[in-house]
Amino acid sequence: MDKGTRTKIQHYGEDYSKFLGAISPPIFEASNFAFSSYEEVEEHQEGKLKDKFTYTRGGNPTVRILENKIAMLEKGDACRAFSSGMGAITASILSLIKGGDHIVCLRGVYNPAYEFIDSYLSRFNVSSSFVEGKDLSDIESAIRPNTRVIYLESPNSLIFEVFDLREIARMARERGIYTIIDNTWATPYFQNPIEYGIDVVVHSASKYLGGHSDVVAGLVITSKELIKGVSRELNLIGSIIGPFEAWLILRGLRSLPSRMELHQNNAMKVAQYLENHPRVIKVNYPGLPSNPQHQLAISQLRGFSGLMSFELDGGEKELRKFVNNLKLFAIAVSWGGYESLIFPTGRGFPKDRKDKVKISPQLLRISVGLEDAEDLIEDLENAFKKAFD
Ligand SMILES: *Cc1c(COP(=O)(O)O)cnc(C)c1O
Repeated sequence: MDKGTRTKIQHYGEDYSKFLGAISPPIFEASNFAFSSYEEVEEHQEGKLKDKFTYTRGGNPTVRILENKIAMLEKGDACRAFSSGMGAITASILSLIKGGDHIVCLRGVYNPAYEFIDSYLSRFNVSSSFVEGKDLSDIESAIRPNTRVIYLESPNSLIFEVFDLREIARMARERGIYTIIDNTWATPYFQNPIEYGIDVVVHSASKYLGGHSDVVAGLVITSKELIKGVSRELNLIGSIIGPFEAWLILRGLRSLPSRMELHQNNAMKVAQYLENHPRVIKVNYPGLPSNPQHQLAISQLRGFSGLMSFELDGGEKELRKFVNNLKLFAIAVSWGGYESLIFPTGRGFPKDRKDKVKISPQLLRISVGLEDAEDLIEDLENAFKKAFD
C-alpha cells in the first residue's frame, strides 16, 4: 500500500471539532435536517450550499464520512454508499445504460450480477454477451456497435481468475466503452483498479470492508462526472445505506490493513498446505507462485486476500464427511469476516448459466479467517483423515 495510507485510513475526513470532540464519529440517526431560515432554503435551492444535508436518502453526515474515506482509498473522485453490494452493482450499471444498449460481461462474475445483466436487463431491451476474457481478443470480439459497458470481476470469487485490467481498460477507452469492476475480493488495500484506467469500482462492503460478519452494504467509486448518474440511481431507486451500517463499515475499516495482512498470511499457509495434499486436485488461489496467472496477479495486486477454492479428490460421500468434520470452518455463504468458513460452492452452482465456466461438483470455497493458521491446518488435516478413512 502507498506510504501513508494506513495513517489516512485512521485520519482522513475526520474532524473531531465538528462533533464536540468525539473521536468516533456520531451516528446521525436522523431522517431530515432543518433549515435555519427561509433564506437558507432559497440558497439551497439555488445550489449554493454544497455541504447542507436535507434528507438522509440524499445524504447523511455519518454516511458522508464513509464515502469520502472510501473515495480516497480507491483513488477515485467520489463514492456513494448503498444498502448492499447488489444495490451498488445494479445502480452503477443502470447509471450507464439505456434500452437498446449491449453489455459485455466476464463469465465468472458473482452470480446475482450475472443474473441481473443476463435475464433482468433483457426485459428492458438491454442485451449482453458473456465471455471467458482471459484473452483480450475474447472481449474484443464480443463488442458490438451498441456496447456501452464491460463488466468485470478480478480476481473473481469463484475460481479466482485474474484479468488484465490495464489492457481491458485501454481497449475499452479507445472505443468509448465504460468499464465497471467488482473489487470486493482484493479490497482497496490490495488493488486500485482506477489506477489502471477502469471507470467504476464497486464493492460489497459486507465482506472485508465491514470485516465482522455483522453488516450488509455496498459502495460505488468513480469520477466526478460519472458519480452524478450513480447518485441519481441511488436517490430514485432508494437503496441507501443506514447511518448505523455506515458507522459499522467505518469501524471495520480501522483494522482493514491489519486484518488483510493476517488474512493473506493465513491464506498462503492454507493454500500451500492444500496444494501439497494428495486428496486435493487443484487449488484456485492467485497468490500461489504455482498459479498459472501469478505473474499477472502480482503485476496488478499488492497482496492476496483470504478467499480461495479447491477441488477435493473424492465423491459426494467424501465431500459430505470432509465438510461435516471441520470444527473451525463454519458452513456458510458470504466471506471476508474474522472467522473461517467453508461452502460446497460446486454443489449449488446454477446449471442455467449460459457460460462454459467449468465448476467441478467437488469445488469447495473457503474463507480463511483470522485464527491461528496452524489450528486451521490441523482442522483441515483432521477432516481429510475422517473423510478418507
Ligand atoms: C457478496 C458479493 C456481492 C454482493 O454483495 P451484497 O452485499 O451481498 O449485496 C457482490 N460481489 C461479490 C464478489 C460478492 O462476494
